[in-house]
Amino acid sequence: MAVINAMETVVTHLFGEFKKNYELKCECLTCQEDILAIVLNRVPSRYTSSEKGQLYVKGEFTNQQLKSDVMRELMEAASFVEHHKHHRD
Ligand SMILES: [Zn+2]
Repeated sequence: MAVINAMETVVTHLFGEFKKNYELKCECLTCQEDILAIVLNRVPSRYTSSEKGQLYVKGEFTNQQLKSDVMRELMEAASFVEHHKHHRD
């Protein structure tokens, strides 16, 4: 049995769109994963079997309310990481 959080797929995909319009202060994997983790803790998880998850994901990509909610969370998380992580390399 494979159980996935379908929201992970949605958030990861939207993070890709988000980065087209938003210049991250640090683009290292650590900072990007910090942003994703913050957002995934704040949006509702959607655990499902992988097959149903695929259908769920297709539906959610056309859900404009969810999309704008996730985009707002990404903006806040990116800002938080920029100001609180002080990542230097
Ligand atoms: Zn970084």
